[in-house]
Amino acid sequence: MSRFFNSCYSQLEPYTPGEQPQDKKYIKLNTNESPFPPAPGVIAAVNKQEAENLRLYSDPELKPLKKALAEAYHVEPANVFVSNGSDEALNFAFMAFGEDGIAYPDISYGFYKVFAAVNHIASDVKPLQADFRIRPEDYKGVGKAVVIANPNAPTGLLLSLKEISDIAASNPEHVVIIDEAYIDFGGESAVELTKTYDNLLVVQTFSKSRALAGARVGYAIGNKALIQDLETIKFSTNPYNVNRISMAAAVAAVQDPEYYVHCSQEIIRNREYTTIELRKLGFFVLDSYSNFVFARTDRINGRKLYLDLKDRGILVRHFDDPKICEFNRITIGTRQQMETLIETIKELLELTTTAGGKV
Ligand SMILES: *Cc1c(COP(=O)(O)O)cnc(C)c1O
Repeated sequence: MSRFFNSCYSQLEPYTPGEQPQDKKYIKLNTNESPFPPAPGVIAAVNKQEAENLRLYSDPELKPLKKALAEAYHVEPANVFVSNGSDEALNFAFMAFGEDGIAYPDISYGFYKVFAAVNHIASDVKPLQADFRIRPEDYKGVGKAVVIANPNAPTGLLLSLKEISDIAASNPEHVVIIDEAYIDFGGESAVELTKTYDNLLVVQTFSKSRALAGARVGYAIGNKALIQDLETIKFSTNPYNVNRISMAAAVAAVQDPEYYVHCSQEIIRNREYTTIELRKLGFFVLDSYSNFVFARTDRINGRKLYLDLKDRGILVRHFDDPKICEFNRITIGTRQQMETLIETIKELLELTTTAGGKV
């Protein structure tokens, strides 16, 4: 830290992103990216013309993308906010709606704690139940904003739309943010509920099911007044928040829903395969509604499994939090990648058995 650093940030603990190795080739199952390329239309949209247009600023109103998203989700463009990754929409929502503090689950997306801290918003962290489920009652009439990832990460567990409605209905004076980064892998979106609840904001991303993590595009859908507030924050920080090439890519992605439904269905099949195979090997695996599974075994310590897999060229995500340090979060890739993972884990389990039990 330099001596010039604003002292109000001196205690800030930044978010630690999953490893993005640029040298060695791994089977990369650590940051929930898609194993599939973006839709063919996306590749075509990122063309020479768009590159030449880079001399011009991007559209600060992001009109074509708002229009495409509004059509896809049966809302008005004025109900859509577009951001540089959904992380930006989340941060802006914390800034805009976090005045009275914000409640979120203890085990969830690690960035919530950081967004609260950087904006000097009080965090009200609610423990999960012993079975890793969110207890909806904890968020009812809570007297502050709420943010819940649904499905939750890294557990993959899902709340029902009824539970989300009840949380929104019980907090009419505060915004309830539902982070649906993984909703396309088997959950039901709360977007329709934003027409009933003017305090409900649904955040989604192009990074996971739409295979555009590197383009950095996300969005939020909600009541026009909420969206206007997010626009106020955006136009006070970074009006050209989404670049031209990313917007062209995102528009093309929204225009090919069949391709992405097909990819998501393949991920769901591979997730079922992986869950079954891991359970056969004695793993405890939560019932995931996302593009990852969260699993542990008594036979290998969580951190050791992560390191041994990394040695063998497979990257998964391990968290040091003692409540979940026996688990690894494993992104679902192609069938072949998941078969390699299972074979590698079998070999590791055999090694520990011959070495005489748990290591
Ligand atoms: C991946 C992820 C995000 C952020 O995605 P962006 O790449 O910034 O759009 C947000 N929330 C959760 C729960 C995530 O897992």
